[in-house]
Amino acid sequence: MDKDIATPIRTRAILEKYGFSFKKSLGQNFLIDTNILNRIVDHAELTAESGAIEIGPGIGALTEQLARRSKRVLAFEIDQRLLPILEETLSPYPNTKVINEDILKADVQKAIEEEFAGLSDIMVVANLPYYVTTPIIMKLLEDQLPIRGIVCMLQKEVADRIAAKPGSKNYGSLSIAIQYYTKAETVMIVPKTVFVPQPNVDSAVIRLTKLEEPAVIVKSESFFFQVTRASFAQRRKTILNNLTNQLPNGKQRKEQILEALTEAAIEPGRRGETLSLDEFAILSDKLYPYFQ
Ligand code: SAM
Repeated sequence: MDKDIATPIRTRAILEKYGFSFKKSLGQNFLIDTNILNRIVDHAELTAESGAIEIGPGIGALTEQLARRSKRVLAFEIDQRLLPILEETLSPYPNTKVINEDILKADVQKAIEEEFAGLSDIMVVANLPYYVTTPIIMKLLEDQLPIRGIVCMLQKEVADRIAAKPGSKNYGSLSIAIQYYTKAETVMIVPKTVFVPQPNVDSAVIRLTKLEEPAVIVKSESFFFQVTRASFAQRRKTILNNLTNQLPNGKQRKEQILEALTEAAIEPGRRGETLSLDEFAILSDKLYPYFQ
């Protein structure tokens, strides 16, 4: 087996050889701990027949471990300075392919069709760039890709919000958006010392397992998300206040909003953070006819 990329000595040697300087603006914090990488990959439960999609391979630390434990790896990397490095570090792994593209602009569906033909199990596994974690996760979920789920490293604070349950201080529209599509779990807390350079924030690994059907069935998905975002616009305000202030022409429609809350059996004085996904679904369906 080849020498791991993710050791402090080998990583430093690679970076020095290419004169690579980290770009903070691209969220470049590379992992230098093989043990942590292996545990991340364990949580993805890959088999020799799985396809793995990676976002931001860096110098290939995680890509290498994925290549050893899956059929094929497709990695999207925005920074073209990393391409010659990856060409060298991943040369022992012909089952890897790097695409020099911004994941937010990439046609991932098409890439899956082209690169993973015949593979039925596809996972996204990544140590995400922290400046864009939420847009990346939302894109992967909203694009309705044929993936089993996502295992990714991100800021602990965002992981806490994603996995939060109703009634907790971290529960909000992000928890709802992600739990609408997936079962969300925090599976690891990761110390800063396993990165170069070390990030300023604490990190965690989450596993998002896609649900066969969305967690709740609603008349309009986009209106459901509009209602949930509106309900958390000002956390200390009641659901009635937030909805009247945030929904289009909400102030003129206060009576209808009150009517919908009554029909949904939700006290107007409650705060958004106390409502479950089911309650938001009922409320959004009751409000929907008034906002057509
Ligand atoms: N996977 C490597 C590791 O674990 O050591 C590097 C992870 S580093 C936190 C994030 C990586 O994402 C960097 O290589 C960075 O250049 C890349 N990146 C940043 N923004 C990106 C984007 N929009 N699309 C694709 N890659 C991106």
